[in-house]
Amino acid sequence: MIRLNQVKLPLDHDEAALQDFVLQKLSISAEQLVDIHVFKRGYDARKKNQIWLIYTLDITLVEVDEPALLASFADDQNVRVSPDTDYKYVTKAPDGLTERPIVIGMGPCGLFVGLILAQMGFKPIILERGKSVHERAKDTFRFWRTSELNTESNVQFGEGGAGTFSDGKLYSQVKDPGFKGLKVKQEFVAAGAPAEIIYVSKPHIGTYKLVTMVEKMRREIIRLGGEVRFETRVDQINISDRKVTGVTLRNGEVLNSKYVIAAIGHSARDTFQMLHDQGVYMQAQSFSIGFRIEHKQAMIDKDRFGSNAGHPILGAADYKLVHHCKNGRSVYSFCMCPGGVVVAATSEEHAVVTNGMSQYSRSERNANSAIVVGINPSDFDNDPLQGVALQRKLERNAYVMGGSNYDAPAQMVGDFLAAGAGKPFENVEPSYKPNVKMTDLSDALPAYAIDAIREALPAFGKKIRGFDNKDSMLTGVETRTSSPVQIKRGADYQSVNTKGLYPAGEGAGYAGGILSAGIDGISIAEAVALDMLKEFENS
Ligand code: FAD
Repeated sequence: MIRLNQVKLPLDHDEAALQDFVLQKLSISAEQLVDIHVFKRGYDARKKNQIWLIYTLDITLVEVDEPALLASFADDQNVRVSPDTDYKYVTKAPDGLTERPIVIGMGPCGLFVGLILAQMGFKPIILERGKSVHERAKDTFRFWRTSELNTESNVQFGEGGAGTFSDGKLYSQVKDPGFKGLKVKQEFVAAGAPAEIIYVSKPHIGTYKLVTMVEKMRREIIRLGGEVRFETRVDQINISDRKVTGVTLRNGEVLNSKYVIAAIGHSARDTFQMLHDQGVYMQAQSFSIGFRIEHKQAMIDKDRFGSNAGHPILGAADYKLVHHCKNGRSVYSFCMCPGGVVVAATSEEHAVVTNGMSQYSRSERNANSAIVVGINPSDFDNDPLQGVALQRKLERNAYVMGGSNYDAPAQMVGDFLAAGAGKPFENVEPSYKPNVKMTDLSDALPAYAIDAIREALPAFGKKIRGFDNKDSMLTGVETRTSSPVQIKRGADYQSVNTKGLYPAGEGAGYAGGILSAGIDGISIAEAVALDMLKEFENS
């Protein structure tokens, strides 16, 4: 197969245009062309009234001397042999293996550790503190409706992990030479995700689809011999001579295994504390703090796509912004949710945390994204758990500012920039539920972060017209952008000082988003499988 990169066609090209391009580019006849497979489709909207689609194509040919054809394009880096992207399992479980790996957490990382181990025949036991995704959805929506929080079943905790009630964006900037990201997407499609997520450059799934997909993937793990236990919190990792021997559950039950994967996410603060108390090496990590900003989606679409706004291929427009401030801080947009809503994302009592989600259709009237300021371990004394303490302090402060009932503090951008009092909202209606309290956000974050955001918003307004409009809506606080700790692991994927413990995914500092957490999950499953096989063969 031959791969053509950077194939550029107008947004509204007709169906035959791809074939015409391929025939002409490769100087072949229609009879020699068997298939055109779209490996990737992105777009270039730098000129909004002349938008291009950019394809990567895999071409199957017949009666063509492919080596000779490729040689004739030696100087053209956009014509190459197609790479082998099929996922290959690194091993399979040997007959007679009785040891079972334990996976803590069933977010995208734990889900993929569990699925890949199960597919290789290593019957994993997955322990998830929250409820099954169906029950969890009820608890989460109840919280948004009634302010009744279940601290073990919410946006952060439960089957599917933190990204279940989300926009389900599936792109990542991690290097992925082994095409593990493709395997993640293929498994999602097998579980019911739209097939286009395989090839569009910025795929997303949306909340409702994610919920049913996660259920299907769990059933597959169980069918393959795995076990999944909900409402099963791991309260201790059992360690002897710095080697893992198993885990102790909240109900006192002990499960033994020499292979424990900690895919606990960035919000399991009690579990971070427990690991720290047990001497598992961890260090402070940079993260970001800020607010969610909302605009009318139509305004963003118009700015990004001009007269092409609303085109079905383009969908609701997104954006990515960054500004380097005079005080040395950087402010950037994060987790942008086109046509979505701002959600209450706390897992702790008396705390307010924002995040964003949308449905597959992205048809809500507002666009939202986090506008956050990067902070470093030196901002919290380099102490591994002081980052958690800072997050908690800001979240509790936001709870009080919102009225001590899980409503979030909010302010229009105009008032925020003028350091004025919070007036009632105008054109952009805040979407956060249960509700918002319009107030003055000046005290919601440390002064350096407030100063940085005040400097950045007008700069963003120069990039996207209307971004700093006075009625744009800020809701706070956004504190859980990534893990404040890194549970350090070595090249063997095991904790640097605790053998048999595999820190994984976002909570351990090795992923940032659904796709990268899934990719890390696959890498961990491979490492665990090979380690188990080696031990079995040596025993
Ligand atoms: P998590 O998903 O956090 O999963 C960890 C799991 O471990 C949880 O289910 C938790 O209950 C469980 N757990 C923790 N401690 C224990 C314990 N002691 N015992 C048993 N179980 C335990 N990313 C994107 O790429 N695209 C998006 O559109 C997107 N939108 C988001 C929207 C929201 C509202 C949120 C909150 C996050 C969003 N993210 C998004 C981020 C993404 O969800 C995370 O990066 C991803 O879920 C991390 O995966 P993980 O498996 O490492 O951890």
